[in-house]
Amino acid sequence: MLSGERDFENRIVAPEMEEMDRENDLSLRPKTLDEYIGQTKAKENMAVYIEAAKRRGEALDHVLLYGPPGLGKTTLSEIIANEMGVSFRITSGPAIERPGDLAALLTNLNENDILFIDEIHRMNRSVEEVLYPAMEDYALDIIVGKGPSARSIRVDLPHFTLIGATTRAGQLSAPLRDRFGVVERLELYTPSELCRIIERSAGILSIEVEHEGAMELARRSRGTPRIANRFLKRIRDFAQVIGDGVVTKEIAAEALSRLEVDELGLDAIDRRILTMMIKNYNGGPVGLETLAAATGEEAVTIEDVYEPYLMQIGFLTRTPRGRCATALAYEHLGMAMPQQPCGECEQMRIGE
Ligand code: ADP
Repeated sequence: MLSGERDFENRIVAPEMEEMDRENDLSLRPKTLDEYIGQTKAKENMAVYIEAAKRRGEALDHVLLYGPPGLGKTTLSEIIANEMGVSFRITSGPAIERPGDLAALLTNLNENDILFIDEIHRMNRSVEEVLYPAMEDYALDIIVGKGPSARSIRVDLPHFTLIGATTRAGQLSAPLRDRFGVVERLELYTPSELCRIIERSAGILSIEVEHEGAMELARRSRGTPRIANRFLKRIRDFAQVIGDGVVTKEIAAEALSRLEVDELGLDAIDRRILTMMIKNYNGGPVGLETLAAATGEEAVTIEDVYEPYLMQIGFLTRTPRGRCATALAYEHLGMAMPQQPCGECEQMRIGE
């Protein structure tokens, strides 16, 4: 195991599902579109498609949800099933090893049911090919017999909805992507949306949180509800031990500093990535693979997990020649900007 992977597993700001998130996860997940905070565009669009499908008494069109981990793709999919009044079956790309595994899942569905495939970009090709006729014609083509007597028979499937979730829409093959009628991108949340999520979760878990305390956690949650909920549960312990049980702004700030999460939600690994870019590569541009090797993190992890937030807060830009640290990143780390900014992203580095 690479040292980077180990760091990633222990990160309190890792947006992936960790063991510590499982407890209470079910009770915290919103069950209806009204309870689902933020993502206004995706939510409003889905409300229309759900209503239309229900009025026609048909299955919802296939849906592809994409965006960084922890933003609520699984939650939204469960809500869609709930609002449609149908059953929800959950699996993931890597879990479906053979075409037969997928065939078994599909033949067990009922009319209008939802099959959710997480990490759909990690499904293997032979499995993916079974999906094409299933999504398009609600049918499975099965080969029976061997050699010259082999023949293909078509088995009808119930009209179902496939919801695929991925952090990397660009890695989906074109034939698969084209078979989704609805494609929605989930965005990182604003601090005020995260604050509402934290206050809602605090209510469910009976944790006393002052508004300013919730806002402090929200500002440091990297735009990600999963991280916000995780902070809330961790900080409850601090509030009980170093305070009187109430999560105040001061306790939230103190506890997160102890966990090495700074006031913008950056942790040691983010700072290492930025410092490396600035010290060793004069702020960039530096290629993704070089950055991965230099920091000991995997390139996909940097791309899916660290970069979206660093880009959202304006600390990092992507250029055709690589990644660049911006003036804001220099300022945050207390480092002096080079006299001659790079030609690739001059505007970003000296303009903002
Ligand atoms: P993903 O599938 O994108 O990795 P999840 O759907 O598992 O993310 O969401 C992570 C956690 O964040 C869930 O347990 C849920 O409690 C919370 N969450 C996500 N989106 C929202 C939201 N819009 N409103 C409230 N809570 C949310």
